[in-house]
Amino acid sequence: MSNRDGFDICVIGAGVIGLAIAYELAKKYKNQDISIVILERESSFGQHISSRNSEVIHAGIYYPTGSLKAELCVAGKQLLYNHCEQFDIPHRKVGKLIVAKNSEIAALQQLKQKAIANGVLDLQLLNREQLQKLEPQIEADVALHSPSTGIIDSHSYMQSLLHLAENLGVQFAPYSRVDKIDTEADAFLVHCLLDENKSSERYQFTCQRIINAAGLEAQSIAQSVSAVPANTIPKLHYCKGDYFDYRGRNPFSHLIYPMPEANTTGLGIHATMDMSSQLKFGPDTEYIEHIDFEIDGNKAEAFAKSISSYFPKIKASDLKPAYSGVRPKLSKLGAAAADFEIQGQSAHGIPGLIQLFGMESPGLTASLAIASHVAKRIEL
Ligand SMILES: Cc1cc2nc3c(=O)[nH]c(=O)nc-3n(C[C@H](O)[C@H](O)[C@H](O)COP(=O)(O)OP(=O)(O)OC[C@H]3O[C@@H](n4cnc5c(N)ncnc54)[C@H](O)[C@@H]3O)c2cc1C
Repeated sequence: MSNRDGFDICVIGAGVIGLAIAYELAKKYKNQDISIVILERESSFGQHISSRNSEVIHAGIYYPTGSLKAELCVAGKQLLYNHCEQFDIPHRKVGKLIVAKNSEIAALQQLKQKAIANGVLDLQLLNREQLQKLEPQIEADVALHSPSTGIIDSHSYMQSLLHLAENLGVQFAPYSRVDKIDTEADAFLVHCLLDENKSSERYQFTCQRIINAAGLEAQSIAQSVSAVPANTIPKLHYCKGDYFDYRGRNPFSHLIYPMPEANTTGLGIHATMDMSSQLKFGPDTEYIEHIDFEIDGNKAEAFAKSISSYFPKIKASDLKPAYSGVRPKLSKLGAAAADFEIQGQSAHGIPGLIQLFGMESPGLTASLAIASHVAKRIEL
């Protein structure tokens, strides 16, 4: 990019959500001579939340009916499966079991009713015998089977989005950290730092529309936009989730989830697997002050205790620290889960600016539906 380029649309952040939005906008404005750029501070795409998650395609069970999370998860799931089929993205509809004790049956039934209200119509309640047939190693009285839950190779998915977007003319600008944005009369002036580790070169350019999809930095970008009222920027809470790999052979053929945590802060330490069937457990939920990806190996004891409620054979020595991710939560510890917050002019008063806050789970599943939602709100 030269020092005073001008673009029609600038997407900040090449995580799964920014990439999906850029691709959707490129399709919307195909053959219309509209310039779109994705700015990414890192050397490549998807180095933050989008590569530190469970890689689960969620069905849409847990979220309050009518919420963006519920609506965009259910719609996004189908769009994502279609995309995977069309572009050969590795994925498997392995199905999921939410397992429970007799004492939790009422809560499990409520979960099923909520899922039905959200449009998830394929759930099936299983009794102990039915569950034993599917997963003999699991100890539980009842289960809810979700056949539409799956897993995806999220790196291949993001690569496909970038590739498709670039083929439609989108420019990808890695090593470009957005520093501040001035709101001018008829455009935005975006100030960037080029490859901050190796140079302190700056450049700036104008653009007509901005989409702030900066994940854990969405709030700090919002604070750097002149004219965004501070009271419209929701407070960000970091909530870390650690994963442990299972050292043995994966004994499960489904994803196994316990009942969700209170307020669905997390979905409970569950058993999930990657495309090679490697079993991993996690994530837990830990509110933190500063971003940190270290995993305390001593947590293996607490993980094993929690997992033993549905997989009694587990031992702490079966678990090996794997990786962690940080959720950009809008709800503080103990509060009810907040919805995705996708703000346009009606929220902050600035035409042409869309900001996405609190894009935690199910953001990967919902990414294509989020992109379509945002693209509908962009007019040129
Ligand atoms: C522990 C955990 C488990 C999860 N599990 C699932 C799951 O199983 N299924 C599911 O559907 N969802 C899951 N999610 C949610 C999902 O991963 C996120 O919703 C999604 O990845 C968010 O993508 P994003 O693009 O908003 O953020 P990110 O991937 O973080 O992308 C933001 C990008 O913005 C860039 N950026 C930041 N600041 C700047 C700047 N100043 N200038 C330029 N670029 C900048 C960053 O470098 C980054 O690349 C999980 C999340 C976590 C944390």
